Amino acid sequence: MRPLLFTNARIIDPGQDWDFLGRLLVENGIIAAVGQSLEVPEDARTIDLKGKWLVPGLIDIHVHLREPGEEYKETIETGTAAAAAGGFTAVACMANTRPVNDSAGITKFILERAREVAKTRVYPIAAVTVGQRGEQLTEFGDLLSAGAVAFSDDGLPLGARMMRHALEYAKSFDALIISHSEELELSEGGLMNEGRISIELGLKGIPAAAEEVAVFRDVTLAGLTGGRLHIAHVSTKGSVEIIRQAKARGIKVTAETAPHYFSITEEAVIGYNTSAKMNPPLRTEADRVAIIEGIRDGTIDVIATDHAPHSTIEKECEFQLAANGIIGLETSVPLSLNLVRSGHISASQLVRCMSSSPSQILGVAGGSLTPGSPADISVIDSDQTFILTLESLHSMSHNSPFLGKELQGRAILTLIDGRPIYDPEGIASPHQDPL
Ligand SMILES: [Zn+2]
Repeated sequence: MRPLLFTNARIIDPGQDWDFLGRLLVENGIIAAVGQSLEVPEDARTIDLKGKWLVPGLIDIHVHLREPGEEYKETIETGTAAAAAGGFTAVACMANTRPVNDSAGITKFILERAREVAKTRVYPIAAVTVGQRGEQLTEFGDLLSAGAVAFSDDGLPLGARMMRHALEYAKSFDALIISHSEELELSEGGLMNEGRISIELGLKGIPAAAEEVAVFRDVTLAGLTGGRLHIAHVSTKGSVEIIRQAKARGIKVTAETAPHYFSITEEAVIGYNTSAKMNPPLRTEADRVAIIEGIRDGTIDVIATDHAPHSTIEKECEFQLAANGIIGLETSVPLSLNLVRSGHISASQLVRCMSSSPSQILGVAGGSLTPGSPADISVIDSDQTFILTLESLHSMSHNSPFLGKELQGRAILTLIDGRPIYDPEGIASPHQDPL
């Protein structure tokens, strides 16, 4: 591989406090040098980025790849192709596959399959309990040895006693528990956020309290046990406040939200739009504003997609019957860039939420442009506008409330170890080499 020299790149790396126009050299799959003026190897190929963003490869901490078991919705191949097209170089995949990723064998299968077909790096998240049944803890040690990076029964909340034991057990491995915080006794049967709109539509609601009492319970148990806790898909103002206070008290808790929770509200459900049905549900304008404030002040560490592909069979049906969740890998960058454009957060904060923090929380490579690190890189055109169409999606599913909408900002080049995994414009393709 010839060395690649990016020039006129807006180089952003929150860990080094970098946000400047400069050059970055990739040699042998490694970031070899970064600076305003660099000595350039003679055989290097120069790519003028004309001010576009060059950032550490984005990492999505919360993705459902559906393989094994539900390959009609998504596969490791299509899901990671969608990730690469969205600017991601790594994804962590949730355990609720069929069978559930609750044993070393399944974790190894996912990693083996990823080695064969994945575009991006794949980090399996294993289940906390056998079969996600909430009764018996899985073998954390075996699963970590097999390559699992964290534990979660995402989709199915743990009971309080099991959450306590999971945090205690995880602590002995310094492992991370990711909580889907939901009090089922308050949410059961709910179809959308509980409020004026749920009453008007005649749909059973899910109160914000169903999430908040569970978040409070989980941070309290993290405090009790000293275990590392990560709260998935924070959707309410109250949850943000509870996490803010827990962090102030020194509890080891981190949190994520998803772009839909700061981009749209429960109003998207009007018309019984199943593409706006998810769990936790889309909330109110006050919640949306509080989520943005949580990202701005660092209460929320991570923007994750909760990419949840479903086939048309599960989505083009009555609202009551429709599956929960939307795809997100190919819309996360433009939706998150809206926070920068509107002045709520800086470009550096965005990169922290989408790359540096996820890498630190999971304890995986990436998240930085430090010379010597693998050349996992995303190049983002923050201005380019496009319409999200069915044809443009790499995911096998298209359950997105943003379909048909005009979005601004997208990845134009994604590299792993210096190799292009997404390069629709042929920016870094070897066949463009002048000979
Ligand atoms: Zn969940």
